[in-house]
Amino acid sequence: MDGSPLFTPTLQADTAAPLPVTIAPGDGIGPEIMQATLTILAAAGAQIAPEVVTIGERSYLAGEPTGIGADAWDSLARTKLLLKGPITTPQGGGYKSVNVTLRKTLGLFANIRPCRALHPVVPTKHPDLDVIIIRENEEDLYAGIEHQQTDEVVQCLKLISRPGTERIVRYGFEVAAAAGIDKVSCFTKDNIMKLTDGLFHRVFDEVSAQYPAIKTEHLIVDIGAARLADQPGRFKLVILPNLYGDILSDVAAEIAGSVGLAGSANIGSHGALFEAIHGSAPDIAGQDSANPSGLLCAAIMMLAQNGQAPVAARIEAAWLRTLEDGIHTLDIFAADRSKACVGTQGFAEAVIARLGQQPRQFDLRLSHPLPTVPPSPTRQPKAEKTMDGVDLFLHWSGGTPDDLADAVQTIAQAAPGLRLAVITNRGVKVWPKGRDETFCTDHWRCRFMAAPGVTVSPALVPGLLQALAKAGLPAIKMEMLFRFDGTPGYTAAQGQ
Ligand code: NAD
Repeated sequence: MDGSPLFTPTLQADTAAPLPVTIAPGDGIGPEIMQATLTILAAAGAQIAPEVVTIGERSYLAGEPTGIGADAWDSLARTKLLLKGPITTPQGGGYKSVNVTLRKTLGLFANIRPCRALHPVVPTKHPDLDVIIIRENEEDLYAGIEHQQTDEVVQCLKLISRPGTERIVRYGFEVAAAAGIDKVSCFTKDNIMKLTDGLFHRVFDEVSAQYPAIKTEHLIVDIGAARLADQPGRFKLVILPNLYGDILSDVAAEIAGSVGLAGSANIGSHGALFEAIHGSAPDIAGQDSANPSGLLCAAIMMLAQNGQAPVAARIEAAWLRTLEDGIHTLDIFAADRSKACVGTQGFAEAVIARLGQQPRQFDLRLSHPLPTVPPSPTRQPKAEKTMDGVDLFLHWSGGTPDDLADAVQTIAQAAPGLRLAVITNRGVKVWPKGRDETFCTDHWRCRFMAAPGVTVSPALVPGLLQALAKAGLPAIKMEMLFRFDGTPGYTAAQGQ
């Protein structure tokens, strides 16, 4: 634990039971903006009992391989509430993202990012931008399951679950209903990822039917992203799978005026994490020039969510008034419209000086509590599951697709119930009747289907695997091809 008095706000004498909160200042500009935020919270009378922990780069460098030590987990188990500064994540290698670990371990399935233009105080090309991004936080490509399978090919597994999707979509509609929002949008790429994104879209449609007063729309994520960037005013609340939500929430925050201004809430059934959306900004760390607004907005949401909405509103009002008065940090300062360029702590002092004042141009948004987490999602009844075949993936670079088909067909005589049906390379059919133009890597999918009149079961596959391995063609991965209540649970090969 970091016992620095810097992070111990003085509580007012008339406190009820203060709210225990784990405080992680984080890396880079984190400690500076956390200090500014906690100073404002203390001055406004927020009733919090902070437990300060070190997570992220400093924890990692001190020998904790995950970047989160036992003291941090102990504190989180007690408080179930984290106010976190940004964490530096190494790119391409090094320790796994602490942010992803925290969200997944604590079951924080919903990421809520309100983005709104504060024009003309913070100029933007999109003065009408006022949108809440609801991002699924645990699934999708962020499962972090990646493998190198051949010399030339690596893969990342995209996982979308029905309960996970139902939970985020329902929570998104609850947020919309609580905020009086009458239109909810959903973006996916289900024209390409028909099973994974297709499930997300289908569940969105199913859940939306239970909110008849709210208009809904679904857009393919490419045109959805383009319209969000070009005409953000047409969106009010957008529900997205994890990766698209990660990207588009930054786009929305940036075109609102500055990534330095937005906070976010990560909500789960057993806890919550509040943070700024920006990163650790190592380029300006230690200079007292970072804008603490993103973390302050996150802290406002945290207080509102935890029974301290009046204090949250007091801080939000003073913060907006400070911006309206032209007291700006360097990232949003402009000589022609700002009145003073202040540092991180100077900005905090300016907000404190305005506690009790109301904004003149903007209404309060962040200090309304978010809805409580809906009950557990419905679980699916067991479907009748039958097997059609198996996809075996091979690492091979011995010739043409026809050569591979000849070799595999000879070997496959060891498993007479299964017949080679198609070979693909990077998803494109190359046998039978492939095209010479198709570029092939060393990563091949051989699809075996049940021979006519044969009922296949997973028990047939080991014989085939052994025969392939004996012939010098060990499989690198397999996927069983099942039907669920008669519907295929797999896609056809491209070009099939
Ligand atoms: P970044 O958000 O840290 O910085 C992008 C740009 O915005 C920089 O020029 C920076 O100076 C500026 N900026 C960011 N926050 C600011 C603020 N409050 N005030 C003024 N200017 C601000 O993004 P990055 O450079 O891509 O990432 C740096 C590190 O942060 C990386 O290790 C990344 O993985 C990590 N990161 C962490 C989180 C998180 O902890 N939630 C989120 C995003 C990135």
